[in-house]
Amino acid sequence: MLDRFKRRINYLRISVTDRCNLRCRYCMPENDPCLLRHEDILTFEEIQQVVAVSVSLGINKVRLTGGEPLVRRDIVDLVAMIAAVPGINDLAMTTNATLLSRFAGPLKHAGLQRINISLDTLDPEKFRHITRGGEIQKVHDGIAAAKAAGLHPIKVNCVVKKGAEKKDADQVAGYCRANGLEVRFIQEMDLEKGDFGIVEGGTGGDCRSCNRLRLTSDGKVKPCLFSDLGYDIREMGIQQALEKAVGNKPEKGSVNQQNLFHNIGG
Ligand code: SAM
Ligand code: SF4
Repeated sequence: MLDRFKRRINYLRISVTDRCNLRCRYCMPENDPCLLRHEDILTFEEIQQVVAVSVSLGINKVRLTGGEPLVRRDIVDLVAMIAAVPGINDLAMTTNATLLSRFAGPLKHAGLQRINISLDTLDPEKFRHITRGGEIQKVHDGIAAAKAAGLHPIKVNCVVKKGAEKKDADQVAGYCRANGLEVRFIQEMDLEKGDFGIVEGGTGGDCRSCNRLRLTSDGKVKPCLFSDLGYDIREMGIQQALEKAVGNKPEKGSVNQQNLFHNIGG
């Protein structure tokens, strides 16, 4: 699929849940995060159908995200269902890795190819602060399990606060070098203010080369993270929602006043 600006759209990011076992300060409110009703969340069959129709329109790259994808019940089955769709060359996941030690092997077996893990600091106290209670050791265990399972490459997403000293980011970079992990630095973004930047070491944030669509966990196809546009697959039908999203993909991101990171997927 080509959009109006001749960008080839081949990448679908799927938020499989708006729920999470952490409460990162830049992503999710601590209390009452306004979660979706269970009946509004797409079923595995619906997600698989979206993937199948997307492939017929030119998508060949899929990433599962959230919320935290590993808190979605039977996530390994969903990975297997998506991996079974012919035409997906690249199947990845973004996770906070706190539950990964248990899931890495089964995910690899189900057809997951590679994984991105979020880690902003190596300091256990700071990690606990940023995530409002997370235990960094679980992330280390998750990374070890991902390596052992053969998920490759393992990329680390490190969010850097604007204007903050780079000490934590530098330490994360050193840790990644020492452990054979790739690292990407993501400037902390603000959806409401339209504040975003190019991902250092990655592909996000450069509107001229954007190749993405997003599917929210309640079935809206969104053409851009920084836009309020969204097309409901249940109301419009899958193909029409995908085509509308591509047809109306904005040239550049602006603002998103309807979503928070935990319900659009980052
Ligand atoms: N729970 C998973 C995780 O944390 O990796 C997947 C979902 S999370 C919303 C996806 C990515 O978005 C993570 O790498 C996270 O660090 C990033 N993210 C969340 N809020 C952000 C913000 N305000 N600015 C920049 N990145 C953000
Ligand atoms: Fe959860 Fe990921 Fe958001 Fe942190 S960034 S609260 S781990 S969804």
